[in-house]
Amino acid sequence: MRKPHALCLPFPTQGHITPMLHLAKLLHSRGFHITFVNTEFNHHRLIKSAALDPTAQMDGFMFERIPDGLPAQEINATQSIPELCASVTKNCSAPLRQLVMRLNGERGAGGPPVNLMVRDAVMICGQKVADDLNIPDVVLWTMSTYTMMGFFQFEELVRRGYTPFTDATQFSNGYLNTPVDWIPSMPDICLKDLPTFFRTTDPNDIMLNLCIQIAHSLPKLSAIIINTLDELEHEIIHATATSFNFKGPSYAVGPIYQLLQIQLPQSQLHSTIKSNSNLWEEEMGCLDWLDRFDPASVVYVNFGSITVLTPEQVKEFAWGLANCNHPFVWVIRPDLVSGESAVLPPSFVDQTRERSLLAGWVPQKQVLGHPSIGAFLTHCGWNSMLESICSGVPMLCWPFFADQVTNCRNACQLWRVGLEMESKVRRDEVEGVVREMMEGEKGKQVKQKVGELKVSARKAIEMGGSSHSSFEKLVNDLRVMKR
Ligand code: UDP
Repeated sequence: MRKPHALCLPFPTQGHITPMLHLAKLLHSRGFHITFVNTEFNHHRLIKSAALDPTAQMDGFMFERIPDGLPAQEINATQSIPELCASVTKNCSAPLRQLVMRLNGERGAGGPPVNLMVRDAVMICGQKVADDLNIPDVVLWTMSTYTMMGFFQFEELVRRGYTPFTDATQFSNGYLNTPVDWIPSMPDICLKDLPTFFRTTDPNDIMLNLCIQIAHSLPKLSAIIINTLDELEHEIIHATATSFNFKGPSYAVGPIYQLLQIQLPQSQLHSTIKSNSNLWEEEMGCLDWLDRFDPASVVYVNFGSITVLTPEQVKEFAWGLANCNHPFVWVIRPDLVSGESAVLPPSFVDQTRERSLLAGWVPQKQVLGHPSIGAFLTHCGWNSMLESICSGVPMLCWPFFADQVTNCRNACQLWRVGLEMESKVRRDEVEGVVREMMEGEKGKQVKQKVGELKVSARKAIEMGGSSHSSFEKLVNDLRVMKR
């Protein structure tokens, strides 16, 4: 049988590239030839952060790049998500098609002919190329299945007149507390719990329309791979596939990074594929710093790769952390704060010097796995949430936008592994919620719950577990999958 060749096309942000790279490494370890496609912009960032060595030779695993269509930018600047979405949707099909033609024309050098598209759901451009080539169109869904169900509701929200908003006051006047009672397997939710991309007054809003387009594309796919685990989302996985009549099967194979760790020991992984996906260089020193603290005594604060805070929000978080008196690691990306860069008051730095570490980018999974970490103040990105659960670390949830509000709702109300924070950042609330988590009764309860989920997540990726079995089935099915 000819070696399968998967073209892996992530959406070009950190939280989407990482699970795609992990999936690509897993497929490669099972004999698939891989072409992994980054944008030019991210390709340069990966080289700068030492994640990618462009001179390294890797057997059957190639990195390629295409332009994202946006004007050249400072390498450290986070790109605007709506602009990036609009640009890749409009501009990436043609270079992608050319890339595939080149790969298929360069027999030998380009590997066997590309016969599988494995793309992010947001990369609709990949669908067109898969259609042209008549190859299976497979999506890696990098968010939760609850988020997928949320995307499926956007057209209904428009039909029922919930969006576009009639005026700007609906963003803040309690309108978002309107109950939404028709969604299968999502009882007791409100508008505020759905992914935020429907919150617009503009009927032509890029994100609203892209989410509707994505929802339309999912049922037609050859298959959907979901970075989740059945133990967390059993009902909703089933409800989504049956309610929307999926043509292809879905595979819950998450957390993919854990599956990769268990299936491919580090030594084996590094001898073949030396690259990782960090768009910023990791500061490893934080792990030694953590060694000096008692178990479960340090608060880890990280808002992911896209969130941008106002200087005011930073100050409120800073004083909340200073006043709670617990040690903390706080990751402040070079582009985390809008406007001025030096926003931390000198007195805050002096006051917390002995018990705080400020870093630009850390090895998050290792930090969360460090015994000193007692809680994670997070923006509720799906990867961060899975990583926290897998490490048994309870969360202080401060969602910023997108699917993070849905993740926050589930973490705090459904799985009960987190405590929710108000969206307006106030230092006394930050202090109070950190103390409640580290010292209080509610903290004890969520710690116990997240400990239980950690065990379930571990079982899921071990031999015979739900994600492990789904992955085995996925590999077998992909080898023979046709349109
Ligand atoms: N991450 C990291 N170091 C950092 C900050 C983030 O390794 O200092 C990783 C984190 O482990 C996660 C990803 O970046 O895998 C962020 O994805 P997530 O879905 O949590 O949030 P997003 O950045 O997409 O908002």
